[in-house]
Amino acid sequence: MDIAAAKVRVAQLVDDMADELVDLSHQIHDQPELAFEEHFAHQVLTDAIEAHGLPVTRGAYELETAFESVVGSKGPNIAVCCEYDALPGLGHACGHNIIATAGLGAGLAAAALADDLGGTVSILGTPAEEGGGGKVFMIERGAFKDVDASLMVHPAAADLTVMNTIAVHRVKVTFTGRSAHAAAAPQEGRNALDAAVLAYNNIAALRQHILPEERLHGIFTDGGEKPNIVPARAEMLWYVRSPNMKSLRPLGDRVIECFKAGAMAAGCTAEWEWIDPPFADMIDNEPFLDLYAANAGELGRVVTTPAPENRVVGSTDMGNVSYEVPSIHPMIKVATDGSPIHTPEFAVHARSQTGDAAVIDGAKAMAMTIVDLWTQPNTLKTIKAEFAQANKSMR
Ligand SMILES: [Zn+2]
Ligand SMILES: [Zn+2]
Repeated sequence: MDIAAAKVRVAQLVDDMADELVDLSHQIHDQPELAFEEHFAHQVLTDAIEAHGLPVTRGAYELETAFESVVGSKGPNIAVCCEYDALPGLGHACGHNIIATAGLGAGLAAAALADDLGGTVSILGTPAEEGGGGKVFMIERGAFKDVDASLMVHPAAADLTVMNTIAVHRVKVTFTGRSAHAAAAPQEGRNALDAAVLAYNNIAALRQHILPEERLHGIFTDGGEKPNIVPARAEMLWYVRSPNMKSLRPLGDRVIECFKAGAMAAGCTAEWEWIDPPFADMIDNEPFLDLYAANAGELGRVVTTPAPENRVVGSTDMGNVSYEVPSIHPMIKVATDGSPIHTPEFAVHARSQTGDAAVIDGAKAMAMTIVDLWTQPNTLKTIKAEFAQANKSMR
């Protein structure tokens, strides 16, 4: 089978299961589940894989709502990531119902040709993208160790090559001082709230001297019990964001110095805890993206580089995957009126005709891209060389 015929075939297979994919997308949308609680989505997606006669591991990689289905035994192993968690209070306002079912469709269509074309496809159910970092745990537990490349599509208001990602690590800091009666014996006290306020101001000053793309934002989560008791304990939560993992670490170190200085000035101690996992920035693989964009173009979707007005800025655990294997995270048009993700309007678009069309086109474009990766060893070599280069500069 030549490449063109194989692509026609996978697209046909997606069309054949279009009703099923759209129905699953709607079902998941109707039953939004938060990070690591996606039991319904996990059930219907794994049932669908089994109904198509393929093996599936439920609760894969010690995560109750993760799954894995590997089909094929030779050739390049391409992983399609399916996300399916929702947002508190907003339902599927990030459109992960579309990610899940486009990924399922791509995986099932490609699986049907895995033996003929000599490739392997892994359909990975990756829970808890919204803050939980399911993919990071799956990476640590080996889900990507035999994978050659990985892809997914993410809904947006336009067809874009990339999401503009930024790495993020959260840190909790606790200041400890000594309580005293604030009126009767203030000289006996060591004020932990003062330490926190000073640390906050240190970071506010630091903000003037960091990269323009970096972000530091924090809140006070404990500031004492009562005004007439010198606070012996104060606590803050900070998000440290930087363009990539390499620049994130030194910025984090500078934030810690601000904590220490605040504590020192107030005669207190500071203890901090980095809340893992950090989300890495996305290293988008250009030659890999070219394949996707060409295939999406065949389907009538013009995939463009984001302009300032339509770019999507955020963090995703797919970034961590992109540090392990060559990866792409293109955005697929769902919201026709420009509504951004994480809004109630976007949740409506995620279960609309354009949302349904994104499920089908996303499945086709990804399946066609898998065909490319399986059948063009030289292109895959280029992709891996590009990955090695980009990855080296980031570490
Ligand atoms: Zn989101
Ligand atoms: Zn999302």
